[in-house]
Amino acid sequence: MDIKALQIERKYFADMREKIRHNGDLAVFYDHLLEETGTRAYDNRSHALRACCKWFGVDYYALQQVKDIRQVNLCKDKFCYNCQSVLAARRYIKYSPILDALYDDYAICHMVVTIPNVYGDELPPALDKMHKGFKWLLGYMSGHVGIRGFDFEQYGYAGALRALWK
Ligand SMILES: [Zn+2]
Repeated sequence: MDIKALQIERKYFADMREKIRHNGDLAVFYDHLLEETGTRAYDNRSHALRACCKWFGVDYYALQQVKDIRQVNLCKDKFCYNCQSVLAARRYIKYSPILDALYDDYAICHMVVTIPNVYGDELPPALDKMHKGFKWLLGYMSGHVGIRGFDFEQYGYAGALRALWK
């Protein structure tokens, strides 16, 4: 194994610091929500945002002068640029081999569907509608459901990935 290939450059950490630069501002937003609502979950989010990428779990091998990063704390907040970048990179690593294999034979399309914001108890039915809508869309694309005078099968549907950003 080429150990050089596994080294992390200082720039990586500088980029990470840049990505979490606004986390303090986001944490203040959650602090205000905590004051307004008294909901303790906002306090947890605030602390998590402030602590994002602030500590690393490292195995240190002094003889070899190697630090093996085993764990990094991530806040996983939907507004944290760093954590969203990590999530996007994980999705890329997970799905790009599949998409690359299909790339020569199929047109790959990307579609973003949004709905207006909903509050608390409106969320479960909204998610349910989105799941049903996706299933309904796939019915058309796969040719199982048709619209008179329009042939969806001409597009050669092979499959779909769905990601819910919440
Ligand atoms: Zn984060």
